[in-house]
Amino acid sequence: MIPYKFKNDEVYYYAESNKQEWIDIITNPNQGKGIWAYAPMLPVETKNIVSMGEGFTPLTKAINLAELCNIKGLYVKNEGMNPTGTFKDRCQSVAITKAIQSDVKGVIIGSAGNAGAAAAAYAAKAKLPCFVFLPAHTPKERLVQTLQYGAKVIKIEGSVNDCIDTIAFVKDEFKLENVSTANCMNPYQGSGCKTISYEIAYQIGFKAPDWIICPIGGGGLLSGISCGFKEMYNLGIIDKIPRMVGIQADGCAAVATAFRKNLPPDGIVRFDGYQTLAVSIADPYPLDGEFALKAIYDTNGYSDSVSDKEILKAQKELSEQEGVFGEPASSVTIAALHKLLGQGIINQQETVVCIISGNGLKDLSAAGQLLQDVPVIKKDKKQVVETMAKYFNHDL
Ligand SMILES: *Cc1c(COP(=O)(O)O)cnc(C)c1O
Repeated sequence: MIPYKFKNDEVYYYAESNKQEWIDIITNPNQGKGIWAYAPMLPVETKNIVSMGEGFTPLTKAINLAELCNIKGLYVKNEGMNPTGTFKDRCQSVAITKAIQSDVKGVIIGSAGNAGAAAAAYAAKAKLPCFVFLPAHTPKERLVQTLQYGAKVIKIEGSVNDCIDTIAFVKDEFKLENVSTANCMNPYQGSGCKTISYEIAYQIGFKAPDWIICPIGGGGLLSGISCGFKEMYNLGIIDKIPRMVGIQADGCAAVATAFRKNLPPDGIVRFDGYQTLAVSIADPYPLDGEFALKAIYDTNGYSDSVSDKEILKAQKELSEQEGVFGEPASSVTIAALHKLLGQGIINQQETVVCIISGNGLKDLSAAGQLLQDVPVIKKDKKQVVETMAKYFNHDL
């Protein structure tokens, strides 16, 4: 029996009768179980959990980057450390666990690549056939990864929204469960994102950060994280809810545009002619955008977009300063940190957590655009000394 109800704007609330259990678990989680340490907060039965160690990713204090930005408390939540390299593993662990509890022949997902790869991996583990619809221009790394797990992949001409829309034509005919990471398509998976906030609270010692900076694609990540913080606030575990910042790419910014125009959450308009290298957040119509924008308004947060150039620069900076190689979609958070500090929206005395949603290895050609050629030489002392000397002259 699952005592939680799905609500429109939240995944679900705790029941009053479970209050103490929730408090005990959130304040003293069994880290070895990953997201399933929080099993009572997830809306599925826990008989046959499909898990591969997702969750409890590092929350690193970004000391070098903080010094560079002159901000006191800066942390990065490194979701690239999940089994398939993004936070989507949290969602798919829940979605596939739910799927094997119902009478489905397999699962199907429309994805920009990361959710598809995660679904493919968890479906493989659950011995469930998996169909993945990807946009025609998906980075090769994700295509290879998804095929590697044995999923059946079809490319669709268009955006991630077109991929998700296409599922409706075949879902019932083939008796497949839609595990796309949008709450209107699959409400179970969205609860996986709440575990990110429980972990952050635990890792930071239950002092809620002032700000969470989070990328927005469909909006599920941000709304899930804010839901988790809201639950902890209602339980009295933290004394405030962090202000949520939702960041998009200039070339695909439906939520940021609505925020700038001060539109209501249900007033988001599809973004025409999208174009960005941050493919994981190139959702012309953010299916959970309404919930994300509501969370931003409710927490007195902020939304904005950044250029591809700023994204690549931030991606390199995070790698060089902190040893964390995030993918372009994740790097919007670092680009936005600079922007919001510069504009005085974020104060240097405040504490900020940037959600690094996915691993840079997921899209090598994007990061490769900024790299210089690497010298190739013979195994020869003179040549190696000369070549290295050039590096030193260059840097010193
Ligand atoms: C899916 C994804 C996002 C966006 O998450 P939404 O829930 O769609 O807003 C951001 N970064 C990465 C790496 C992703 O895979």
